Amino acid sequence: MASGRIPTLVVGGGIGGLTVALALAQQGRRVHVLEKGAEFAEIGAGLQLAPNAGRVLAKLGVVEALKEHAVLPARHVWMDALAEKPITTIEFGDAFRRRYGQPYMVMHRGDLLSVLLDACRKNDLVTLEAKRDVVAVDDLGDAARARCADGASYEADVLIAADGLWSHLRKIVHDDEPVCNGYVAYRGTLPIADISPHAGPDSVLMWIGPNLHFVQYPIRRGEVFNQVAVFKSPSYRPGYDGWGGYDELEAHFSQACGYLQDCLKLMWRDKRWPMYDRKPIGNWIKNRIVLIGDAAHPMYQYIAQGACQAIEDGLCLAQHLGNRDGDPTAALLAYQAERSFRTARVQITAGAMGSFFHMDGFSATTRNAMMAARSPTDYAPLDWLYGHEV
Ligand SMILES: Cc1cc2nc3c(=O)[nH]c(=O)nc-3n(C[C@H](O)[C@H](O)[C@H](O)COP(=O)(O)OP(=O)(O)OC[C@H]3O[C@@H](n4cnc5c(N)ncnc54)[C@H](O)[C@@H]3O)c2cc1C
Repeated sequence: MASGRIPTLVVGGGIGGLTVALALAQQGRRVHVLEKGAEFAEIGAGLQLAPNAGRVLAKLGVVEALKEHAVLPARHVWMDALAEKPITTIEFGDAFRRRYGQPYMVMHRGDLLSVLLDACRKNDLVTLEAKRDVVAVDDLGDAARARCADGASYEADVLIAADGLWSHLRKIVHDDEPVCNGYVAYRGTLPIADISPHAGPDSVLMWIGPNLHFVQYPIRRGEVFNQVAVFKSPSYRPGYDGWGGYDELEAHFSQACGYLQDCLKLMWRDKRWPMYDRKPIGNWIKNRIVLIGDAAHPMYQYIAQGACQAIEDGLCLAQHLGNRDGDPTAALLAYQAERSFRTARVQITAGAMGSFFHMDGFSATTRNAMMAARSPTDYAPLDWLYGHEV
């Protein structure tokens, strides 16, 4: 337990929490991170990191360490999951890297967390505490107090809620719950040698089909292959937990090409990830308490931006707190003004892209024709997303 008032307390030691901690410390601000897990760790497997996040990590001085673990794919290919044919390609080569200043990266999410954790540990201004489950937060007007399950309590000038999709702290600001769309993800990793033939070491493959998609890419310097299978469960209903089982996954993908059905056999069966988001909200602040990352703007993973946006938030919030050292209220308002429209746009786009991927029949045929007509180096539609500067 900390004695005295802490300048900045971060609740949640995930990607968003550690990014903001590192960025604050680099602004010369003392920061204390509370994580409820037994250690700072990430569950799940692969993560795509677009250049909008890569540039933030470069500013924080950790992007080169990350590249030692990551894969820099040459392209992103959309594949028709039924016809087993390419639909369109986005080239990630020199033109892409020049335009956005950083490459597209794919990695194990544990590797990203380790790089952030190492940088935090090397900075004397960061204190990290695991096994600290924050169960209540008190708004004290010009301060905030976090109370933990074990009785520990911490008072801070600014409290940053980085406690993810199921954020308890969000309730202080807004009374809503995550909404499930009936889709569920299965994940899996395997040695790269065990997979072929579409899966090259240089591509992110996005297979799309009716109410389904399947993502494949290499991670860990190309030694490991990552797969994510997503489909809409016919048995989903709110409050019922038995939906989206592995048998449903197999049944839904039985319409897909033989190659995908073979890949499906390699998924982990013991855990599934139901898909949730929340509607965008314009207010993330209650006096000295502020939301970042999934606590503020959870989104569907269809455009692989949730972690990227949490990383952008982290730098943005730290910069505003650094620039307005004596006026945290103004800093929090400036952070919210800079971030809320952008993240709402990303949330809305993520949902819309899901509908685009999951089309059926003539809509899908039309989509494929539209996408086939674009050039692999037509980056203009991506500029707002990948070119954004915090
Ligand atoms: C299947 C899937 C694939 C995805 N793929 C991508 C991708 O390719 N690219 C991308 O950018 N995004 C992706 N995302 C989204 C990304 O994972 C999230 O947006 C990101 O992890 C959000 O980071 P965060 O730090 O806000 O929250 P989290 O990562 O959820 O971290 C929250 C942390 O807070 C801790 N915590 C929670 N409650 C408390 C408490 N009461 N007290 C103390 N600690 C607490 C948790 O233990 C956790 O460590 C994907 C998501 C899913 C589900």
